[in-house]
Amino acid sequence: MLSFFPIAVAFLLLVYEYRNYRLLKKAKFLYEKDGVKYYEIEGDEDNAITIKSVVFGKNVIIIGKKNEKILAHEEGHLKQPYFMYYFFVISAFLIAYNIFTIPLLLFMYKLMFLHYERAADLYAYNKYHVKFESTTARPAKRIDRIRAWIFDTHPPDWVRAKEEKYYEKKNSLIKLLLNDLLS
Ligand SMILES: [Zn+2]
Repeated sequence: MLSFFPIAVAFLLLVYEYRNYRLLKKAKFLYEKDGVKYYEIEGDEDNAITIKSVVFGKNVIIIGKKNEKILAHEEGHLKQPYFMYYFFVISAFLIAYNIFTIPLLLFMYKLMFLHYERAADLYAYNKYHVKFESTTARPAKRIDRIRAWIFDTHPPDWVRAKEEKYYEKKNSLIKLLLNDLLS
C-alpha cells in the first residue's frame, strides 16, 4: 500500500505542526535572539522545550524560571538537524509498506530521542562545562531503572547527573545503559 505514503507523511506533519502551534500559542513571547524566538510558560519545575519547525522556525519555550544551564542544553538541540522530519518520512514509508512496522518505529523513535538528548547534554558540557543537575536518587530496584530508560524522554536523571562516564563521548549509550542495569 505504498500509495498511502503521501497521506501518511501529510498526517504526521499535520499532527506535529499542530502540536507546535498549540505549544507556541500557549506560551508568552519574550524576545528574539540570533534567529531564535524565546517564549515562556508557567511551570513548577524549570525546564525548556526546543521547537525546530519548518513552519514556525526556531523556538525555545522556557518553562518556569530562566535557567542558563537548561538553555545551554537547548542550544545543543538548536544546532541539531531537523531530525523529526527525517523520522516522519521514514515512518510514513514503513507504515505504508506494512502497518506492523509500528513497534519498530516506536523503538527507533526512542533511540533517536536518547541519542539527541545525550548529544545536547554533551554539547552543553563541552561548550559551557554545564552538567545536568538533579537530586533524583538512583532507584535500588532494577525494574525502576529499566522503566526510566524506557519511559523518560532523556536518559535517566541519575545517569545524566552523577555518572562521570556519561560526559565522555566515547562511552556509548548502550554501554551506559548496560552499566546501569547490570550493576
Ligand atoms: Zn533535551
